[in-house]
Amino acid sequence: MGWLDLCRISKITQQMYERISPKNSFKNVVVFLLFFFSLSLPLPLFSPNMFAKQILALSTIVAMVSAQSSSVPASSGTPTSSGVLAQTSPAWLSTVTPMAGNVQAVPSAGAAVPTGTLAAVTINTADYPTPWEVPPTNSTGVQAAIAAIDWTKVPAAPVRTANANGDLTFTGYDANADPYCWWSDSNCVKPKVDYLPSDIYNCPKPGDWGLTYDDGPLNPANPGQADQWAEPQLYDFLAAHNQKATLFYIGSNVLTFPAAGQRALADGLTICVHTWSHPPMTTQTNDQAVAQFYWTLRVIKEATGITPKCWRPPYGDVDDRIRSIAWQMGMRTIIWDEDTNDWNMPGTGGGNLSPNTVDGYFQGWISARQNGTDNASGHVVLEHELNNATVSMAEKWLPTLQTTFNVVPVHECQNISQPYWETGFIYPTEDASNATTTTSMSLAPSAAPTSASVNAASAASAGADASAAASGTAKSAAGKLAVGAFTVAAVVAGAMFNL
Ligand SMILES: [Zn+2]
Repeated sequence: MGWLDLCRISKITQQMYERISPKNSFKNVVVFLLFFFSLSLPLPLFSPNMFAKQILALSTIVAMVSAQSSSVPASSGTPTSSGVLAQTSPAWLSTVTPMAGNVQAVPSAGAAVPTGTLAAVTINTADYPTPWEVPPTNSTGVQAAIAAIDWTKVPAAPVRTANANGDLTFTGYDANADPYCWWSDSNCVKPKVDYLPSDIYNCPKPGDWGLTYDDGPLNPANPGQADQWAEPQLYDFLAAHNQKATLFYIGSNVLTFPAAGQRALADGLTICVHTWSHPPMTTQTNDQAVAQFYWTLRVIKEATGITPKCWRPPYGDVDDRIRSIAWQMGMRTIIWDEDTNDWNMPGTGGGNLSPNTVDGYFQGWISARQNGTDNASGHVVLEHELNNATVSMAEKWLPTLQTTFNVVPVHECQNISQPYWETGFIYPTEDASNATTTTSMSLAPSAAPTSASVNAASAASAGADASAAASGTAKSAAGKLAVGAFTVAAVVAGAMFNL
């Protein structure tokens, strides 16, 4: 993972959190039109009919702008175009039967969740590729997933290469033009492909701390033997501190430790995808990328019964080619905006970063929040359930974080109530939208979505979640109200001035 560290350090000043909102352009249009209208305002003083006509004209302008604004998704990080969003519930997983014993819903707020020793649960590993190897692409399931993708909507970005050290090669890529929104080179989070939503990379609300742990579930060092640092260690700690989090699972780790995945779901933690063998995904061919996603989604569904709509690229290595494939397989990309680099501490699979350095990161973030300099937005913070060092560090800082920040899963701060395709799991959100909102997403597996279902998925997905879709509906209603109000005004004006 050495290249990653160097990459992040060298790119740290290039954080590009693009905040250009399509609403701004509408605002500019409104200002321009109102200014243009105001130039002729003196005329009505001399001509009532002209005045009424101008009211009519202004009504039309406002109604048009309102209608246009109402079509803009309400939440941040949404696409600016109404292009096709091919996200549907994965039909190629419809034949996967979840193991017995899984929960069917999120535990209610404040409810006690399971802790302690995990049951012995195994998945038939013969049904899966070799753990931690790049999975083959010739299985029936992977081929079905490949066939379900509209490849005309996947950009032809080159498959990237790595040098002998495993470090990505950036030679020849124009980071300034950044044609494929390649995060590893530019930290780009706003895709150039118009139907893709922005990556989720922070919590919008200042003071929020989006708690995430990658690389789990943490298996025992020796399979089948007790390991005090393996799961459920971290999950029990979270339960004891009444804390939920977002987990990004490696498929290979789920295959060898499905009981941990079941526990996480039962504890109310949110599960997302983190690939099968943890490669830099831009080094994977299209078919290999599909296989990485397919096998991870499949093993998570078999172990836990859920199908995530979220994933995080290992090392953050994603471009629009990979985003497009992930999106068409039902997942939105989640990155981060604060990185603990905890994976690089000494430990199994770790590096040589001093734990004191990681302590310094946490202390710095806490101090910045306390002294008021961290007030622009909330954060999504990258931590790991990788080994005893990362779990220890997580446990060391969580209590202090809880007294400083509003520590929440990513979906909660992003007001995404349904992170899975299954309908039974509705998580709390900050705006409490889950209490009143239903989703228009296609929730049942469907082999070939109709244009109607694609559009329905687009409506919901473009808003990133059900709450945004609902908010968009509300805005749409408001837009119609505005149209109606100004139509009435225009009619009244017309009657008054005998137009
Ligand atoms: Zn990872």
